[in-house]
Amino acid sequence: MTDPDPRIDEAHAVPMAELVDRLQISGLVKTAGELVGPCPGCGGRDRFGINLSKQIFNCRGCGAKGDQIALVQLALGMGFPEALDWLIGPRQELTSVQLAEQRRRREAADRQRRASEEKARARSIRAARDLFFAARPAEGSMLRDYLTLRGISPELLPVLPPSIRFEPEARYTIPAEGACDKWQVLHSGPAMIAAVVDPAGRVTAVHRTWLDLSQPKGKLILPDPRKEGETLPAKKVLGSKKGGAIRLASPPEARLMVMGEGLETTFSAQVANAYPEPAAYWCGVDLGNMAGRRKLGPGLKYAGIPDMEDDRAWVPPAGCAAWSSSRTATATGG
Ligand SMILES: [Zn+2]
Repeated sequence: MTDPDPRIDEAHAVPMAELVDRLQISGLVKTAGELVGPCPGCGGRDRFGINLSKQIFNCRGCGAKGDQIALVQLALGMGFPEALDWLIGPRQELTSVQLAEQRRRREAADRQRRASEEKARARSIRAARDLFFAARPAEGSMLRDYLTLRGISPELLPVLPPSIRFEPEARYTIPAEGACDKWQVLHSGPAMIAAVVDPAGRVTAVHRTWLDLSQPKGKLILPDPRKEGETLPAKKVLGSKKGGAIRLASPPEARLMVMGEGLETTFSAQVANAYPEPAAYWCGVDLGNMAGRRKLGPGLKYAGIPDMEDDRAWVPPAGCAAWSSSRTATATGG
């Protein structure tokens, strides 16, 4: 049996963001903890993503996924040995001292990366809180008109939850062209600001929906200056949404919880009043957040078994005995 190639560990220590530069993969946009954009293998617009904390990539189009070596294979059309040579150079026989030194350096780089990620996360949570608490009460603002346009009238929902606020001049930013960690303001205008709170009830992120009541769905249609003929999503999250939810209604006596992916979906389910008993209505922001990690391994691809080690997965509140995601409500969302 041959020893495992030590270059594989070395390859895993190459930061993905740096590798993207080396491979000259263009068009990726930095969102919370991710680089998203066209796939270097099969193109598209936003089917390809690199998870910066896990340092892995995934493409919803061609199904390519994996580590740094797999990314080189995908981008340059190489086999595994060539990709490893390209990334690290030819294999050298290292002494155990050299190997130990290599490991020490790799671990130090890992620790540094995690620490700077944690710092960035704390910073974005602070920014999210500032944004939420600086926003205005939803009641009496144009949010009422927006929700009415979406079928959620004041008659159906007489009291708006405090988790929703209004910002008349919310700034829509995108990464500045050719500059790292710089942002440019693309639009400034009214937005619905929703608080994403963690299990302890602390605001950890804000979910923003930019509004334009002249549009049929009331949401802003913003052309993407980087991509001819394409538009940007009217909704964005700032902060750390993982494990959090937007609580639209949370009666203490509720033992049933209803969760939708989108805000309007969850509101619709709430005003439809489909359950005879008091229910909590929470919006899960996105399916990935609602689902958490699943167990991976041989034969488990479609098993859908939750990975109970995922300590940042979303967990229903303690008093809940049952929960439901409304399939009919999902169809009205977006
Ligand atoms: Zn692809």
